[in-house]
Amino acid sequence: MYEEPITFDFDLMTGLCLQKPGMDRHLSSMKGIFYNEEAFESMLKEDPKLYTFYDMDVPFEDMDLAFGTSICQPGKVGQEYFMTKGHYHEVFGTAEVYYCLQGQGIMMMETPDGLWKTSELVPGRLVYVPGGWAHRTINTGAVPFITFYVFRGDAGHDYASIEKKSFRKMVIEQDNRPVVVDNPRWE
Ligand code: MN
Repeated sequence: MYEEPITFDFDLMTGLCLQKPGMDRHLSSMKGIFYNEEAFESMLKEDPKLYTFYDMDVPFEDMDLAFGTSICQPGKVGQEYFMTKGHYHEVFGTAEVYYCLQGQGIMMMETPDGLWKTSELVPGRLVYVPGGWAHRTINTGAVPFITFYVFRGDAGHDYASIEKKSFRKMVIEQDNRPVVVDNPRWE
């Protein structure tokens, strides 16, 4: 879509792209993702916005780079922090970089053969998510958790396997701090 160089402005505090509308994802589009279904159902009437992301309309081609910001709101469903749905890339071996601009949170990552890893993110820290790792961002703080991401333009998003049973680990609040625990729904 862009055949000539183009610039974008992202607000460093809010993560907002100043030239484009963002895409919002609300709680109602996250069915089956959070462990506590009772808490999930009770929050549906309000249907809070969980996160916003900016898609810069780059061509879906392997020579391009998709990029933008992801802004995850603070909050919890039961004890589980607000987070993004999470995904594998359709082009399975394609990696991604996330650079934290504001807030604090965790990048949750796992592979189909059972590896998992969490990386804590604070402003100025970057996580490199290698190919083959599913990934989601989790806001463990009290303010929006904002990251800037870049990945291969044709990588695509595979949400289906995550929608079945979420990730094998989850992050909940215990004694006012985030703790990684097994997801009881994972088999
Ligand atoms: Mn990704």
